Amino acid sequence: MKPDTIVALASGAGRAGVAVIRLSGPNAGATLQTLTARELPKPRAATREAFCDPRTGLSLDDGLALWFPGPHSFTGEDVAELHIHGGPAVIAAVIDACLSQPGVRVAEPGEYTRRAFENGKLDLAEAEGLADLVDAETEGQRRQALRQRRGALSAVYEGWRSKLIEAAALIEAEIDFPDEDLPGALALRAGPILQALADDMGRHLDDSHRGERIRDGFRIAIIGPPNAGKSSLLNALAQREAAIVSDIPGTTRDVVEVRLVLAGFPVWLADTAGLREAADAIEAEGVRRALERAEEADLRIAVVEIGHEVPTELEAAIRDGDLLVRSKADRVAAHSSGEMLEVSALTGIGLKLLHTQIEERVAGALGREEAPVLTRARHRRLVEEARAALLRAIPALDLGPELAAEDVRVAADQIGRLTGRIDVEDLLGEIFSSFCIGK
Ligand code: GDP
Repeated sequence: MKPDTIVALASGAGRAGVAVIRLSGPNAGATLQTLTARELPKPRAATREAFCDPRTGLSLDDGLALWFPGPHSFTGEDVAELHIHGGPAVIAAVIDACLSQPGVRVAEPGEYTRRAFENGKLDLAEAEGLADLVDAETEGQRRQALRQRRGALSAVYEGWRSKLIEAAALIEAEIDFPDEDLPGALALRAGPILQALADDMGRHLDDSHRGERIRDGFRIAIIGPPNAGKSSLLNALAQREAAIVSDIPGTTRDVVEVRLVLAGFPVWLADTAGLREAADAIEAEGVRRALERAEEADLRIAVVEIGHEVPTELEAAIRDGDLLVRSKADRVAAHSSGEMLEVSALTGIGLKLLHTQIEERVAGALGREEAPVLTRARHRRLVEEARAALLRAIPALDLGPELAAEDVRVAADQIGRLTGRIDVEDLLGEIFSSFCIGK
């Protein structure tokens, strides 16, 4: 069945200098021809056009047209782009004129990318990279999304999948041809392959959630006793009034978060309830959430007023690499030479240094550009399941190929889901048919 031709505004909504309307599908070319009342332009070259409403012959707008005959287009189908003036009425009129043509309908969300996926133009991980690239707000997000869009992550997953299929073929050979005098050690040859893969997946998983943090934000919790100046510090760091500041201890009962961009990465900075014996149930809940938040955070900033003891609850919540801050440094004339950073939200003393130290922590955690990293919980889950299946398959090899084969298939299937290539059976058939038995 011939697919519909879809049309939608590809550029952002709202008034703009230029808007791009994209058509994809078998009638894209005919629609463009009808709107311009001319032959199709040269492929992939911008051409000046006057767009008319084919029903009335009246002028709609002047602009540029681009023609991308399939399969050399984003979706793999015939694609036409109309670059017109970006006013809402112009956009509506041109889309409406496209819709008057046979087989043309409005695109559903994500439908262009879906068609690109279905036509083999990109795989699932690359499509996710593209979505992230469109959503990227920070430099670190952009770099990560671009790598994923270009297939860096897909290459890792496809590499694993082909190794798994290789191992599966070795094991299946032993199952299907047990009397063919195949060397009994055949399945055992699969063992080292599977072990190396499980190790590789383990390293990939053990990444401190770097890719997910770059995508979703590095989490920092400000913790400390009530009235230590946590909310004031958050406001000073966020440079706006995000948290309620008050001199009644215990006012921040829930978690207040602000989103910042530090060192090119998204950061969630959370102010938490003061850690102390709670006066009532609501405050107790606040303290519980504060501790939970502190526990989950990638970095904790512990705040204690200058000259005060570091309370034991706070001591228990901090870890290596956390930042310890002495607040209200404006209150003392002579400064201690201790290892803690002294800051004042009021006068700004030490804030720049604190800001720099936070940036260093964020960049240190997220800034290394090595192998492609996991960027989504979906990927983490699938890799974890694949690895667990391999760890079952490896000892099962000693008990016979049948047991191991099933788990290797499960692993290959999970990895296939990462890129959307789940035709493991087909590939097995293909590889296996060329497998040289007993020769
Ligand atoms: P939190 O309970 O830890 O969030 O503390 P707040 O930020 O609400 O501050 C508690 C009190 O300390 C308020 O009265 C603030 O005005 C005061 N305070 C906060 N930071 C400073 C500072 O840097 N210098 C001085 N002198 N007072 C501060």
